[in-house]
Amino acid sequence: MTNIFDKCKRTHYSNEISPDFAGETVKVTGWVHEIRDLGGIVFVLLRDKNGITQITAPSKKVSEEMMKDIRAARKETIVTVTGTVQESPKAPNGIELIPSNIDVINVSQLPLPLDTTEKVDAEMDTRLDARFMDIRKHDVSAIFKIKNEMLHTVRNYFYDKDFTEITTPKLVASATEGGTELFPITYFEKEAFLGQSPQLYKQMMMATGLDSVFEIGQIFRAEEHDTLRHLNEALSIDAEMSFKSQEDVMGLLEDLIKNILNNVQDKCASELEDLGHELDVPSEPFPVVPYEEVIDIVNSQDVEMEYGEDLNRAAEKVLGETMGSYYFITEWPTAIKPFYVMPNSDDPEKSTAFDLMYRDLELSSGSQRIHDYDLLYNQIETKDLNPDSFEKYLQAFKYGMPPHSGWGMGADRLTMVITGVKNIRETVLFPRDRRRLTP
Ligand code: ATP
Ligand code: MG
Repeated sequence: MTNIFDKCKRTHYSNEISPDFAGETVKVTGWVHEIRDLGGIVFVLLRDKNGITQITAPSKKVSEEMMKDIRAARKETIVTVTGTVQESPKAPNGIELIPSNIDVINVSQLPLPLDTTEKVDAEMDTRLDARFMDIRKHDVSAIFKIKNEMLHTVRNYFYDKDFTEITTPKLVASATEGGTELFPITYFEKEAFLGQSPQLYKQMMMATGLDSVFEIGQIFRAEEHDTLRHLNEALSIDAEMSFKSQEDVMGLLEDLIKNILNNVQDKCASELEDLGHELDVPSEPFPVVPYEEVIDIVNSQDVEMEYGEDLNRAAEKVLGETMGSYYFITEWPTAIKPFYVMPNSDDPEKSTAFDLMYRDLELSSGSQRIHDYDLLYNQIETKDLNPDSFEKYLQAFKYGMPPHSGWGMGADRLTMVITGVKNIRETVLFPRDRRRLTP
């Protein structure tokens, strides 16, 4: 019996076959993307990971039996085609294959849950319900190839800088920052929660002597918002560094983003083309705008915002229009940032917290952290949180905690920016939002 894997072993991916191959025999494997039967001649578009190959079967050149096989090939059926390359300027890659053998590997049922050739996009819900098929479309898989390049760059970048990659628990006993909504779960006879951030753990890592750590992991937020930039399960890139200042970690973040943009630009040209997206790669340093100036900018555009308020949606929008692509907001009031943020030593009303924005979208929040036990204890109480529920975290600050700084960045949000998609759901394989828990 022929091994099925031998049967479908390709010699090339579609994008690798060019007019230079004219006269050669190649073998391609993929999904039937489209089939057009003009009577005397049948065209099949075969799609694989990297492109599309046109199979051209004229009844004059191809056996009757094979013509029957080709005509029976349904959309999205997996086939392997061996054939001779022929130049064909109008076909994808400028070539077509005249088949000498066709193997049907696995037949697709009809009707399809989603049409992979539809020129007009289906509804988001329809797409997400049949996500495996949605991702067969090249302009959708391009998003995940670019996200992959982003994550690859992040890991390489941190390894090169001698960071240690960590993985911290996502099953936790109490809230990271108090307040915000948590997903409660049953943990044997106790109540537990899904982690909203690795914040407390990565800070405890500063007390281990490892100095610089990073984590790429899921965060869970039980917020009921229904926006284009929030999910209930998101991917976070977190970095924390001992003996480094707010300015140091802002520089790290900016440098990392520029590395990502350059790599995506270099290595994902065809994916960006599939998406019709032109990457915005700033060469200048990211502008820095202090919070108080943000209020002036926002107010000057007739949007109300008072000192001590977080940016509302309208404020983010007008600020984004004024500031353009990437910029930092610094000197946030201590009162509206989490308890672990180090207040400014000269003016404790202000803090060392910063946000990195891309136009109207928050990408990252960070700060210098409090390393002094008494000050930290105090801040927990000031924020109306109970220090007892932070006992194990606080312990790490009693026995030699280095001064340290760090940030957390939404990986899905950064993917939105570098792919140009407007809905965060597009950037996640199987997104979780207020209404969706499957597939
Ligand atoms: P926002 O104000 O936009 O809701 P946040 O200030 O609550 O964000 P942080 O707690 O600062 O978010 O989290 C750090 C980063 O993680 C954010 O800057 C963002 O990029 C990402 N992030 C936070 N919450 C979500 C979410 N629900 N969905 C997707 N990404 C998120
Ligand atoms: Mg934030």
